[in-house]
Amino acid sequence: MGEFELIERVFRRRADAAPRRAQVVLGIGDDCALLAAPPGQQLAVSSDMLVEGRHFLAEVEPAALGHKALAVNLSDLAAMGAQPLAFTLALALPPERAGDAAWLDAFAGGLMQLAAEHGCALIGGDTTAGPLNVCITVFGLVPPGQAPRRDGARADEDLWVSGALGDARLALEALRGGLALPPGLLAQARQRLERPTPRIALGLALRGTASSCIDLSDGLAGDLQHVLRASRVGASVDAGTVAGLLQTPAPLTPQQRYAFTLAGGDDYELLFTAPPDRRAAVLAAAHAAATPVTRIGQITAAPGLVLRDAQGRAITGNFAGFDHFSGHATGTA
Ligand code: ADP
Ligand code: MG
Repeated sequence: MGEFELIERVFRRRADAAPRRAQVVLGIGDDCALLAAPPGQQLAVSSDMLVEGRHFLAEVEPAALGHKALAVNLSDLAAMGAQPLAFTLALALPPERAGDAAWLDAFAGGLMQLAAEHGCALIGGDTTAGPLNVCITVFGLVPPGQAPRRDGARADEDLWVSGALGDARLALEALRGGLALPPGLLAQARQRLERPTPRIALGLALRGTASSCIDLSDGLAGDLQHVLRASRVGASVDAGTVAGLLQTPAPLTPQQRYAFTLAGGDDYELLFTAPPDRRAAVLAAAHAAATPVTRIGQITAAPGLVLRDAQGRAITGNFAGFDHFSGHATGTA
């Protein structure tokens, strides 16, 4: 299959089959797509690249790869309270993949199924030969002033997180042979690693309630630091509660539990702040979005991050240097 036949057969047909969105004036086929920015809305734009060996393993199922490539991008829109609109797909394919119709079909299938779930239109991209690499740019819509930015956290606000934490890292460690996990538990954790759920509904429901928000890609402790720095505040985190957010009932040491939930990475949950008098509104948003949320600490005027165990004692040692845990190629406690 040549480049143009591949674009036509694998991507354009699927894109054309999806329901048309009014804001997409022109989709795949010309030098640019054309988007109509609706009155009273801003465009939220973000790119994420997935590289074989760094962000996914070579043997990953193509449908899961297609899903994840879009999911991590949608997760960024969720963190900004944006409604997904469209995306572009830049794809580098080694010859053995470009010539593998079953692989391409499964990849495009996983990708376009998630796109359809969120009404996100494929409007263009680029296709080239090279080491397997998937780069997506998403476009979303959010009314001016309603995106909860990283610089919006204030002292004495609550710190919240959605869903479960640490299962993706648990799966990665098991797949790499770093720890043994019964097959049933590995399958459960692997689902979290390979098919993360972008928290779009929660991001939308939290508009006007969350004061700041970030999606968790590199681990809670590291990503929280981005919010603290941008907002010039600190935080006290109940690490005992966070450690309880690991969903897979795996036989782990307390140190492993802390490492995976606080610094595991690949969670794609939302970490956000809100004033204490907005607790009922946060819970109502979580209910409306059918997404569990947990209050895990407070924002403090004093800078720095303090982690406390279930007894309220500050955790030290391994958790002082979070950078050691962030990123995907590092070891764990
Ligand atoms: P150009 O040479 O002008 O960059 P291309 O020949 O690369 O255009 O692409 C032709 C059309 O196909 C363009 O509209 C482009 O956006 C689209 N396209 C290319 N690759 C992809 C892809 N992987 N997925 C979706 N659309 C694509
Ligand atoms: Mg091109």
